[in-house]
Amino acid sequence: MSRILVIEDEKDIARGLKDILEYEGYEVVAAENGKEGLQVLSRKEPDCIILDLMLPDISGYEVCEQIRRKCNTPILMLTARAQDHDKILGFKVGADDYLTKPFSVGELLARVMALLRRRTQYAQDADLIRVGNSLVDG
Ligand code: CA
Repeated sequence: MSRILVIEDEKDIARGLKDILEYEGYEVVAAENGKEGLQVLSRKEPDCIILDLMLPDISGYEVCEQIRRKCNTPILMLTARAQDHDKILGFKVGADDYLTKPFSVGELLARVMALLRRRTQYAQDADLIRVGNSLVDG
């Protein structure tokens, strides 16, 4: 079962995301601000992160940068903003995908599934490379 970390301070949206994702069979861990999100990240090792841009303590961009210093877990950035420069900045600091509020449940799930699929593929490729190296080394 894939575990998804939701970092979102707006309670209604956070609860909605949890309900939707749990209904689809994902395990959800939630954090209400950036600092808590980073703490939960190191404890729970999620497979995917849904990160709201507007958080009460640290901005989503800063959280994203800090996550990228630790791991390459896929990040779906969530925001009410729809302007191009925000999206570009999001990708620059390491987000893998971007979803603008209000979003449809179907689109959210499709994007989460795509990110998880890519992560699985990377893991398989990494295994192949390891096998390749050991053959060469051996
Ligand atoms: Ca927010």
